[in-house]
Amino acid sequence: MTWQNWAGTVSAEPARRYWPRTASAIADAVKDAAAAGLTVRALGSGHSFTPTAATSGAALDLSNWTGVVSADATSGLVTVRSGTTIRALNAALDSLGLAMPNLGDIDAQTISGAISTGTHGTGARIGGLATFVAALELVLADGSAVTCSEAERPDLFAAARVGLGALGVISTVTLRCVPSFTLAADERPLPLAEVTARFGEFATDNDHFEFYWFPYGRKALVKRNNRNAVAPPMAAWRRFWEYEVMENAAFGALCRTGRAAPRLIEPLGRLAAATLPKRSYSAPSHQIFVTPRRVRFVESEYAVPRESVLDVLAELRAGVSRLSSPVMFPVEVRVAAADDVWLSTAYGRDTAYIAIHQYTGLPYQEYFRLLASIAASAGGRPHWGKMHTLDAARFAELYPRFADFLRVRDEMDPEGRFSNPYLEQILGR
Ligand SMILES: Cc1cc2nc3c(=O)[nH]c(=O)nc-3n(C[C@H](O)[C@H](O)[C@H](O)COP(=O)(O)OP(=O)(O)OC[C@H]3O[C@@H](n4cnc5c(N)ncnc54)[C@H](O)[C@@H]3O)c2cc1C
Repeated sequence: MTWQNWAGTVSAEPARRYWPRTASAIADAVKDAAAAGLTVRALGSGHSFTPTAATSGAALDLSNWTGVVSADATSGLVTVRSGTTIRALNAALDSLGLAMPNLGDIDAQTISGAISTGTHGTGARIGGLATFVAALELVLADGSAVTCSEAERPDLFAAARVGLGALGVISTVTLRCVPSFTLAADERPLPLAEVTARFGEFATDNDHFEFYWFPYGRKALVKRNNRNAVAPPMAAWRRFWEYEVMENAAFGALCRTGRAAPRLIEPLGRLAAATLPKRSYSAPSHQIFVTPRRVRFVESEYAVPRESVLDVLAELRAGVSRLSSPVMFPVEVRVAAADDVWLSTAYGRDTAYIAIHQYTGLPYQEYFRLLASIAASAGGRPHWGKMHTLDAARFAELYPRFADFLRVRDEMDPEGRFSNPYLEQILGR
């Protein structure tokens, strides 16, 4: 049975598939695949744009290995099975009076897929999802199980939180959650010139700040989400109208028009920028962090030192006007605090993320090459789950602890049981 990712950019024909329902079934699957001489990849929800989960060996589908194992509302420590989606996690945390401190844009990913590729949201004082991990349980290449945390096997813990599935199969993830909280969202269009002039202020004055800019438009959609702010709730019909009808159905129609008639893309981009919504409302945190994304696209994203992002954006803006094929989707800029996870894109530096997208079926290669070359001179680290062409030699320059990661990988998986061609590209053989 063919496996395909969400964006439709990667497909694979695994020789075998396993659907483990217990931790020992995960170990049995790894041993069984090893006995057959097959490599092993765990499957998340397939939301990576890179071929990180793809395998022609054994695929471990963890969709039957879900749910909460244990939860302590006082400490906020919650252990979940690795195939749990973020959507299911949020629902389970809701009923416990707990929440994830921060989330990305969507909730379709599995928790283990999300942390393994360094999935992040936005917030200058907060890190990505892997920074909320308190402990991991992994099944190693020989089928044995290990636990790691700050106190137990700290090197494995530093490597495995953003581990790319290279060290073993994560069986459970223990998360440091927080009491559930409400966020007040303020979303409004502002002139791009004002957003860039006030970027530092917006990043530091808000718990969660990001902006979207449609190439060819003059305005950006600025999103500021805060805990200690007040706003009315949004009626369900309005939420449906704004997010489902306008941001998905109407935007999807705009994209299809642009794909059918590319000469219209620039005016459509200007139209989209001129009609950006203004709204202010409050809701449980995960309902603010997460929005439905039904229009398919491809994406590339780089983490750069925060002080470089405006230069990167300025160069990108200048370059976009020279592209031979126009761009239909907005550029997204987010921020994150420095962290200590070896392969986290925010390792050791306060970070800004610049993400570019293109509607599925439209040319994107020249555009993605443009950002790659601009980000390279700023020391840009690509998101592990989003399109890029960098290799192990470059990552050795970009990540101070890259050699340590490889050392731990070689100890945990000396035969390359958990490898695939993408991992060979990014980690070397
Ligand atoms: C519409 C959309 C929106 C997105 N929004 C964001 C965003 O806001 N922020 C952001 O940072 N990223 C975002 N992403 C990227 C996405 O979060 C990552 O690519 C993430 O890895 C996808 O999770 P998944 O469950 O689909 O994992 P997959 O893509 O299926 O797998 C990712 C990797 O994790 C490994 N893996 C999965 N499970 C395990 C396990 N149990 N043990 C070991 N390894 C495992 C896989 O082998 C693979 O290497 C988005 C992607 C899409 C398509």
